[in-house]
Formats: sequence, C-alpha cells, structure tokens
Amino acid sequence: MSIAAIAPVPARRKAMSRLITALALFVLCAVIFCTVAGSVLVRQADDRQEVDRRNALLGAITDLRASGANISALKPDVVRGLERIAGLKDLRFERDPVEDSNREMLSLLDKNGRIAGWFSWVPDRSMSRALGTLGPFLAVTAVLLIAFAIGALWQVRRAVRDLHKSERLAWKLAHEDMLTGLPNHRKMIDLIERALAERASGEVVALALVDLDGLNDVNDASGQEAGDQLLKALAARLRELLPRGAIGARYDGDEFALLLTAPDVASAEAAMRTITMSLGRPFWLNDQAVHVGATAGFALAPEHAQTRDEIVRRADLALRAAKRRERGGVLGFEPAMDRDFSDRRFIERELRRALLDNSLDVHYQAVVTSDGQRIVGAEALLRWTHPERGAIPPMTFIPVAEQSGLMGKLGEFVLRRAISDARRWPELSIAVNLSPVQVRDPQLVELVAQILSDLGFEPSRLVLEVTESVLIDQPQEAGARLAALRALGLRLALDDFGTGYSSLTYLQQFKFDTLKIDRAFVTPLGRSSDSQAMIQAIVALGRALGLTLLAEGVETEEQRVLLRLAGCEEMQGYLFARPGPREALDRLLEQNSPAARSAVA
Ligand code: C2E
Ligand code: MG
Ligand code: MG
Repeated sequence: MSIAAIAPVPARRKAMSRLITALALFVLCAVIFCTVAGSVLVRQADDRQEVDRRNALLGAITDLRASGANISALKPDVVRGLERIAGLKDLRFERDPVEDSNREMLSLLDKNGRIAGWFSWVPDRSMSRALGTLGPFLAVTAVLLIAFAIGALWQVRRAVRDLHKSERLAWKLAHEDMLTGLPNHRKMIDLIERALAERASGEVVALALVDLDGLNDVNDASGQEAGDQLLKALAARLRELLPRGAIGARYDGDEFALLLTAPDVASAEAAMRTITMSLGRPFWLNDQAVHVGATAGFALAPEHAQTRDEIVRRADLALRAAKRRERGGVLGFEPAMDRDFSDRRFIERELRRALLDNSLDVHYQAVVTSDGQRIVGAEALLRWTHPERGAIPPMTFIPVAEQSGLMGKLGEFVLRRAISDARRWPELSIAVNLSPVQVRDPQLVELVAQILSDLGFEPSRLVLEVTESVLIDQPQEAGARLAALRALGLRLALDDFGTGYSSLTYLQQFKFDTLKIDRAFVTPLGRSSDSQAMIQAIVALGRALGLTLLAEGVETEEQRVLLRLAGCEEMQGYLFARPGPREALDRLLEQNSPAARSAVA
C-alpha cells in the first residue's frame, strides 16, 4: 500500500482532455457542415425556382396552343408575354438552338411533333449569386468562429488545468505534511483503516507512535529553520528505514507514526524497535551533531485491537506510558495501561471536585541545618485524601493534573495556602514546588507577585522548587521566566538534582540559589563508597557555583553525618520530621525553639 494508491485518478484528467478535443472537432465539423449544407440548400432553392419557371413557361405555351395561336411563328410581344408569365429573364425564341452555355434552353414542338424553334433565357440564380457575394464574408466569419471556439476551448483547457493544479494542492494539503512530504494525521488514519481491512489471517498490523524529545530545544537554540531541517532529515531517515510496504507519517507536531504489516508479532515488534532506535540516533545538521531522542509506544492488531480507533488509542496509551517510564524507550501496549487510563480519568474527575470542595490540604516538612539542630525552613507538599480511596500521593495525581489542565489552579492553591500558613513561622523560609506546566504559563510571574503582595509576604522567604524537566522543553522561555521570578526577590531551588538530563549545562546556564540533592544519592550512603564520592562531587559542583546544598530524604543518622562531612548545609528527611499538617510544624518549632532546647540542655 502506498500513498499514491489514494491519489486523484489521472484518468479523470485524460477524460477531460479528450472531451475538450472532441468539442473542438465538433465545432470545426459543425462550421464545415453548415457551410456545405448552406450552399447545397441555396443551389437547390435556385434549381427549384428554375424548374418552376420552366413549368410556368410550358403551361403558358400549352395555353397558347389551346388558344390556337401559331406556335411556329411567335411574335416578339407574345414572347415578352410568355417571359412575364413564366418570370423568366431575357426570353428569346429562335429557329436554331443558341450556343451559349450561360443560357437555358427549351425546344418548342409544332403540331407534327417537329422542333419549331428554341426558347432560351438567362437562368436566374440570384440566391447562389448572393451566396457567392457573401462567400468571403461567410468564410471570414467561419474562420473567426473557429478561432474563437479554439480560443475559448484553450481558455477552458487552461482553467481545467488550473483547477487540477489547485485540486492536487488541496489534496496534498489534506493528506500530506507539507514540510516532510510524509502522509499527515488524516491520511494515516485512512491508511490504518485500510491496513486493518486488508490484513490477511495470521498477519499482524503494528502501529507505533513516536514522540521526539528535544525538537523544541533545537527550535529555541537554532531557530525554526533548523527545526524544520531536522524534521526533514528525520523524515528522510524514516523513509530509508521503512521496510517494504510500511508507512511513516508525520502524525502531529513532533510526533511520527509507523504502520506496518508483519507475518508475526515478534517481527512486528522488532521492526518497531529498530526503526524507533534509529530515529533516536544523532543527526548531522550544518556540520553539527543534533541529538533528539525518540520515545515510542505501539499496539498490534489483532493482539491489542481490532479496529482503527482502538489501535490508535492503545498505541497512544503505550506512548504515554513509555514517556512516563523512560524517555528514549519503546513500549508495547499492555492491558494494565487501559486500567491506568480509566484510573487517570477517575482521578481527573475527582480532583476537579476536590478543588471545588476545598478538600485538598498542604502539609509541611521541616528543613534543618546539617547538625540537625535548627529548623530553617519548610517544604509545602500537597495532600489529597479521597473519601473512598484514602490518601492519593502527589506523584499519582500531579501528572494527571498536568495533563488535564488542572495544574494551574492546583499550583495557585498551594502557593496561596503555603504563603498564608508561612506567616505563622516568620523565622522560616517556605519552599513551594512548581510544576513545569506552571513555569510554562506566561501569567506565572504576575500571579506570584500578586499573591506575595496580597498576603504581604517578604519575597526573600519564598523558595520556588523546579525540576530539570522544566528546562528541557523550552529552555529559553523557561529560563526567562525563572529569571523574572528571581527578580521578584524570591529564591529558586533545583529539585531532585541528579535525576534529570544534562544537569551541568542547566546549572551553568540558569541561576539557582539552592541545589536539592535527590534522595536517590542519599539512600545508598554508607552502603557503597561510590555514593559517597558522588555526593562529594555534587557538593563541590554546588559550592563552585555558589549554591546552598540541601540533601533530601535523609533517614538515618549515618547519612546525616556523611552528608555533613561532605559539606552539605541543609537537610530534609524522616530523620528530622515527616511532612505533616501546619500544627505539627508548630509543635516541632516549639520543641525546637532556643528556649525549649536550653530547657532540655
Ligand atoms: P519532592 O519535591 O522532591 O518532595 C519530597 C518528597 O520526598 C515528598 O514526597 C516527601 O514526603 C518525600 N520525603 C521527604 N523526606 C523523605 C524521607 O526521608 N524518605 C522518603 N522515602 N521520602 C521522603 P511527596 O509528598 O509524596 O511528594 C512527591 C513529589 O510530588 C514531590 O517531590 C514533588 O515533586 C511533588 N509534589 C508534592 N507536592 C507538590 C506541589 O504542591 N506542587 C508540585 N508541583 N509538586 C508537588
Ligand atoms: Mg520539592
Ligand atoms: Mg525532591
């Protein structure tokens, strides 16, 4: 199956051209026919009149005979009379036949049956003569008519050609991606339908959706044209990689689709993986290696789906799961993804309700100095207790909120609540997590400034935590927004440091105040010497960049000591305090107050 298979049929164009030629021939024949037929008719009319006049002459002679006149010697006045009666021109009566081919003749017999003489007259062919005079004029008219007809037909032909051109263009626009020349989304949907309908028994139809990572990076860093070049290069590579009969399409922005029919599941899966992996290899553009990762999800028919909508939906579910699980990976559909999907729908619905009901809460986890003695801040963590499902962790509902457009409202709720609560703890800084979706919102800076001023909160006490993923998609835009936030006087922390992508680049490029070392580096401390070396390297890096180092997820005294020895200044973890409601932090602060500490001492 190929894209040309559904292209507009060229036979239609051929038929149109034939019709135009036929019309031109018809007009030409019509003009010739009219000319010939016209002259024949005119001649016939003249002949008929001639016959009538001859008959009239014969009738008049018969009457003359009947009146007993002497036929053999007709007087000139009788001849004139006959001439008038028969309507003839220049009628003469002579004994011998005239030798003038331009004159018509009629013999007159006497009563003995012998020729008594000859009538002759000039035939009246006025109509033929008139036609002869009009001839050149008619010929010119006919030529003009033919020329006009040819001109008109040429115009029609051109109009038809233009129509075909625009029809072809419209068809291309509707079915082809203009940039890459690959089939577009709409076309791919048709092709999927067709592949499923034509699938022979035992065959497998595979559909993969491939998402490109980092295309926006290329657009931001090198401009839209470079992004376009990259997409073209990608399409060219895709064409090379596709096995016979397979189709690659530009599905949506930075999403591509692969469709193929294979003899069995194993070869379909292998082909999908090979192609996706090859798409993820770097490209050479303008003498530079450009790296875009490719993550794919695929579904198979009949294993996972029977219909077009089902295979598209399930390939999409697999892609979403692949993106969540591991960028750059390839994941086939699994039934659990369907459950996951309905679960996400449930969460989205219930979260909307929770936002309206005000049934969300914010808990606080203390941030302490590395000696564990002093609380210097708190991190606000969103909490949701569902009436039936109980506590739903933020890692479950935040991605749903991000995808369903609820993150803006959710984020605003946490900011307001956290800043409002933090007024109880004037000596602490308050850290609030920002989702990448919030950072992408152009209104964010205004919103934060508004909340700070509404609640009369000192900006320097607010810390906004972002993860590296914020900087992946649109580094320039995100960078500018973060700088604008920082300009409000608040502080920025890079959360979960070490779990993202190219941390060093981002650390150099964007200005942060605090580096939060992820729990993944803290947990193995004391168990492996590598982890100790890793922490030391991160601390050295943070120090070099003038950042405050904060370790997350500190659970044991051994971890605390090792982190402190490595030079980590602040810590957060179950060792000091679990996240809890604001009253819990009130109590903790009370116990931790200098008065309380000296009382204990
Ligand atoms: P995070 O910002 O890195 O928050 C720290 C997470 O580690 C919290 O999980 C906290 O309860 C947990 N934690 C703290 N100390 C320890 C420890 O010693 N051991 C262990 N095992 N865990 C510890 P939580 O509350 O489930 O939040 C998970 C993630 O959800 C957060 O990671 C953050 O990325 C996100 N999150 C939470 N609240 C919000 C919010 O209001 N907005 C946004 N955008 N994200 C939020
Ligand atoms: Mg955090
Ligand atoms: Mg963290």
